[in-house]
Amino acid sequence: MPVPNVSFEFFPPQNLEASFRLWDTVQTLAPLDPRFVSVTYGAGGTTRDLTRDAVATLHKSSGLNVAAHLTCVNATRSETLEIAQGFAKAGVRDIVALRGDAPKGSDGFRAHKDGFANSIELISALAELDTFNIRVGAYPDKHPEAASRRADIDWLKAKLDAGSTEALTQFFFEADTFFRFRDDCAKAGIDPAKITPGILPIESWKGVRNFANRCGTPIPQWLENAFETALRDNRQDLLATAVCAELCSDLIDGGVENLHFYTMNRPELTRDVCHAIGVTPKARIRNVA
Ligand code: FAD
Repeated sequence: MPVPNVSFEFFPPQNLEASFRLWDTVQTLAPLDPRFVSVTYGAGGTTRDLTRDAVATLHKSSGLNVAAHLTCVNATRSETLEIAQGFAKAGVRDIVALRGDAPKGSDGFRAHKDGFANSIELISALAELDTFNIRVGAYPDKHPEAASRRADIDWLKAKLDAGSTEALTQFFFEADTFFRFRDDCAKAGIDPAKITPGILPIESWKGVRNFANRCGTPIPQWLENAFETALRDNRQDLLATAVCAELCSDLIDGGVENLHFYTMNRPELTRDVCHAIGVTPKARIRNVA
């Protein structure tokens, strides 16, 4: 089985303890030589400063290629572009550009009156700066707000045509979901090599179930049954590793070369899955000199 390239998503820490956990996550996963790591931007733009600080610190101290997430929510165009320029000033050249979601409790996305109306406007404005490698989000199970599966894929094509180089997908549970999506994207004229599957290792079944319901990601019955039994027998960690490694292995068998892991700042499961699919620590020259 070919060994894939990996990348890892983190979220910015909100307190000292979380900072230590993020650093521990980075130290555990960095030896796996990720293509890049990315730092999320809280829903509603709530972690703007924390994201900026985490991105700058990681860029300076980890030696990794860091991508900053950026959304259109709750900010004017000039404020959003100022944040992007701040990333550039810190030496960061990768952005994951998203429309974003409204803060919890509000009823859906509403553009700021002087803000970007949608992700394509943001991507186009960032592309004009000619500074960043721009990645975007994609939805194998269809975004809940998309009018249809086809409309969702056409929208993704427009995002790529507006100046993004790669789409990172929402998580999903079965490789066939991704393959169907990839085939439909190819039919719509999207280069399938530009679509990287997003992988969510199941740290907590209860948490992932709630998350999947919020995102409109269908949960297969076999997975429900498997976790129900595993939780009863207290072997959910073993099942989570096996299920995730199997999903990755099926994707690689289907020609996938890049995998993007949602780490939730907990490195162990992602590390174990990476090891299982042949992504093992690379000795760095500075470590062996
Ligand atoms: P878009 O792709 O622009 O829109 C979502 C869907 O709605 C589209 O697929 C399209 O079908 C439809 N749509 C939207 N606008 C239009 C329009 N004008 N005309 C027609 N159709 C339209 N959220 C955060 O808050 N912070 C993060 O850091 C973050 N990181 C993410 C990383 C990844 C890899 C992914 C997949 C999602 C992430 N999200 C994040 C969640 C994301 O913000 C939400 O899913 C949001 O609802 C959609 O953002 P988007 O840029 O993907 O939207």
